[in-house]
Amino acid sequence: MKMNTIAAIATAMSSSGIGIVRISGEESFQIIDRVFKGKGKRVKKLSDEKSHTIHYGFIYDGEELIDEVLVLLMRGPGSYTGEDTVEIDCHGGVLVTKRILETVLKYGARPAEPGEFTKRAFLSGRIDLTQAEAVIDVINAKNQYALKSSVSQLEGAVSKRVRALRDTIIYHIAFIESALDDPEHISLDGYQESLLHAMEPLKEELKRLIKSSENGRVLSEGIETVILGKPNAGKSSLLNVLVGEERAIVTDIAGTTRDTLKEQIMLEDLSLNMIDTAGIRDTEDVVEKIGVEKARQAAEGADLIIYVVDGSCPLDENDDEILSFIDDRKAVIVLNKSDLSMVVTPDLISKRTSHKVITISARNRSGIEELEHEIKTMFYEGEIDFNDQVYITNVRQKNALEEALKSLGMVEQSINDGMAEDFYSIDLMDAYEQLGIILGESVEDDLVNEIFSKFCMGK
Ligand code: GDP
Repeated sequence: MKMNTIAAIATAMSSSGIGIVRISGEESFQIIDRVFKGKGKRVKKLSDEKSHTIHYGFIYDGEELIDEVLVLLMRGPGSYTGEDTVEIDCHGGVLVTKRILETVLKYGARPAEPGEFTKRAFLSGRIDLTQAEAVIDVINAKNQYALKSSVSQLEGAVSKRVRALRDTIIYHIAFIESALDDPEHISLDGYQESLLHAMEPLKEELKRLIKSSENGRVLSEGIETVILGKPNAGKSSLLNVLVGEERAIVTDIAGTTRDTLKEQIMLEDLSLNMIDTAGIRDTEDVVEKIGVEKARQAAEGADLIIYVVDGSCPLDENDDEILSFIDDRKAVIVLNKSDLSMVVTPDLISKRTSHKVITISARNRSGIEELEHEIKTMFYEGEIDFNDQVYITNVRQKNALEEALKSLGMVEQSINDGMAEDFYSIDLMDAYEQLGIILGESVEDDLVNEIFSKFCMGK
């Protein structure tokens, strides 16, 4: 089974302090014996050494010295992959790292595929699929929240919730099966009531997890944000203040400012991805010339709408219409130009919308902190607590949760329709299996391959 031992460069391919070549599989220790020598060419058989030890020495290809190294030995199952693993820490040059990999391949390993180390950890049962997916998310995390959420998933926070749900479901499946097998001793009288009762918290938990994916996506990717408002309301000025630099050009003549800004604004760890900022200063103004329909389109797909109103001018029917169509969206109303004498009051706007109205002056930069605070609270409803909150950030997991919820809904429906137990125990089983898909139980090879193909080399 020589070719079952894999090797790859685990560090980035650029000059750096150290480079790591990683070997995993049953022949890892024999392979390192073939290429490693201690100081002064002294033979040191690493396969005789204890697990989790570090050894100083040199890598040789036959007689040719390649590099001075530290070698880390980790015997399975106490390693990342769950298999015998060797890591060679060498000097971090591209050429030297490649030469070490080539040598290791020459002496018995085969090149690993992207993600194959983590795939082995999954296949050996050391981690489940949510944890494997969390590994990519940790690597790709772009802000602190995304990182925290991925690390908690890596620790098994998602798996733990899903397993608890599955335990309850399997208990009921088993109960129904036993009762059907042994009706004399186990009665199903009144059972439907208690099952309906037991389904409630399960459905609540599923809904909560599904809903968390909204926050989860926002955490990892940022909030898609659009600023709407009539010409001269102060959209560019507000954007400038939020961005914190004079990058959007502000002018007195409506519609003369034009460029293709695509800004990302950081509110502490939360990022606002400003969509269609060029449209803010479109020559044909969003609200007046093209009309409310265009504003509606601009707002489509946005997680957050910031509607800017010029408080020094009276409201008109355009404001009314826009305020009414954004009423069921996540939006905040900004009443701008508070430094001027205002004809529009927050109360006047509040009569037309349920959204929070924040009074600001983009010119004096007043009210901006309050606006930022409001946006943060809108998305996080206070502090994010990673200790017991679980955030689903993964579409695959979300879909499976939705399917599971659907199946539980069918159980309820069947009970209400007076169907027999064996009928809805099929739906219970479906819910159980959908949750299993999240953990990676009984998933198709294709799906597993697809997930791991997204990994980088050497992970
Ligand atoms: P936009 O067309 O909505 O992007 O509006 P701009 O940001 O270009 O602003 C239009 C005009 O209003 C400019 O002359 C700004 O200087 C001015 N303006 C923006 N915000 C304020 C504010 O808070 N107070 C005052 N007095 N003028 C403002």
